[in-house]
Amino acid sequence: MALTPPPHDATTNPFLLIRSISSSNNAMLSKEEEEEEKENNKGEPHTNNLCAVINHYIHTLNHFNLRNLGYPLNQNFNYDALAPLLRFHLNNAGDPFLGSTVCLNSTSFEVSVLDWFANLWEIQNNKYWGYVTTGGTESNLHAILLGREKFPDGILYTSQDSHYSIFKIARMYRMQCVKVGTLVSGEIDCAELKASLLAHKDHPAIINLNIGTTMKGAVDDIDLVIQTLEKNGFSRDRFYIHCDGALFGIMLPFLKQAPKISFKKPIGSVCVSGHKFLGCPIPCGVVITRKEYMNTLCRDIEYIGSRDATITGSRSGHAPIFLWYAITKRGSLGLQKEAQSCIRNARYLHNRLREARIGAMLNEYSNIVVFEKPLDDEFSRRWSLACKGNIAHVVVMQHVTIEMLDLFVAEFLQKRSFWWFKDYGSSFQPRCIADEIGAANCSCSMHSLLS
Ligand SMILES: *Cc1c(COP(=O)(O)O)cnc(C)c1O
Repeated sequence: MALTPPPHDATTNPFLLIRSISSSNNAMLSKEEEEEEKENNKGEPHTNNLCAVINHYIHTLNHFNLRNLGYPLNQNFNYDALAPLLRFHLNNAGDPFLGSTVCLNSTSFEVSVLDWFANLWEIQNNKYWGYVTTGGTESNLHAILLGREKFPDGILYTSQDSHYSIFKIARMYRMQCVKVGTLVSGEIDCAELKASLLAHKDHPAIINLNIGTTMKGAVDDIDLVIQTLEKNGFSRDRFYIHCDGALFGIMLPFLKQAPKISFKKPIGSVCVSGHKFLGCPIPCGVVITRKEYMNTLCRDIEYIGSRDATITGSRSGHAPIFLWYAITKRGSLGLQKEAQSCIRNARYLHNRLREARIGAMLNEYSNIVVFEKPLDDEFSRRWSLACKGNIAHVVVMQHVTIEMLDLFVAEFLQKRSFWWFKDYGSSFQPRCIADEIGAANCSCSMHSLLS
């Protein structure tokens, strides 16, 4: 998920400033010249310059954060207590459960984080394997590799609303990928899945399920998918299910009556991003799978004194500590409160938009509010909205306050009337987005008459 950088002019662009400082820094100085430089630079003006660049950058980031609505990145955190760790390079190369000969590692934190997620998704400590990845994408890469190694001739099924990483992975692994249609909510259409499965009955099924689609926050129905598989001749030894829970994988377990993500069901793996709900300052993620799937994948590597079981070699040793800190500091109760508050605030935004007769949709266990795409890209950029086709969304994360939402709605309404007037005169009606969010949620002239 790329955040659009705030606009800079040439004089305030911190990157240009960084470049000009770097180019004046001659790396080829002799000893004497270096001494002379130091003498000339009493009071370390060079370091002061660097600080100024960083401070300026922080200023633009703070400014940007005031209207950061469109991506599922929690900005409400404080890791100041971990700052002393930046004096160490921490590297978790290898299998977190086996340790390695690279001593500066944080695998004890990593395993404790993994145990926590294993418990959350209901698999015993001695039955699971997993690791802390660079993000949801690497978690998906690993999980789908497990499925493919289990079923080398398997076909990958995933809904059209899946994250773009899934289609990339299918290409990377040269797997046949069947794109399945979705319901208006965004969840996978099991009738269509059934037809696709029956059309490829001879091949095992590797299924990617979205536990929260990126755009609409729809949760694929794990139980219904399993039922569809089993009823149509796919016994448990002929399918592998991966649950892509990038955002909701950690939220649903804390919401009453939400669908359950559990290894008591015949699923093969679950993943989550660490920088989304948990709010890590660097991208990271978690993948958990059943231990039994790992054997085909691993190789012993003498050089690191460990087992090679992961996608990347060197792995961040800081990321697991950030995750550990995020989870431990808040505890289950704190996480539950945050999840509930995100959902509550998302419902607030949804109601405000509907009251203003703006077509909008919100799935039941979701903090992603989908609505008509603003007519002006400048407005979307200003609020960092993610858009796709005729729709846009706001992801109500922990840093998003009611005040921010009020401000957003007020500005949207004000601009919207202006866009209408400018482009269409006063008779303009919102375009129809019933195909995207359903007739009942649409506010175009035809559908608003129906409601
Ligand atoms: C965000 C997201 C991912 C992975 O994203 P990363 O940026 O690699 O962490 C995967 N799947 C879904 C459904 C997502 O929303």
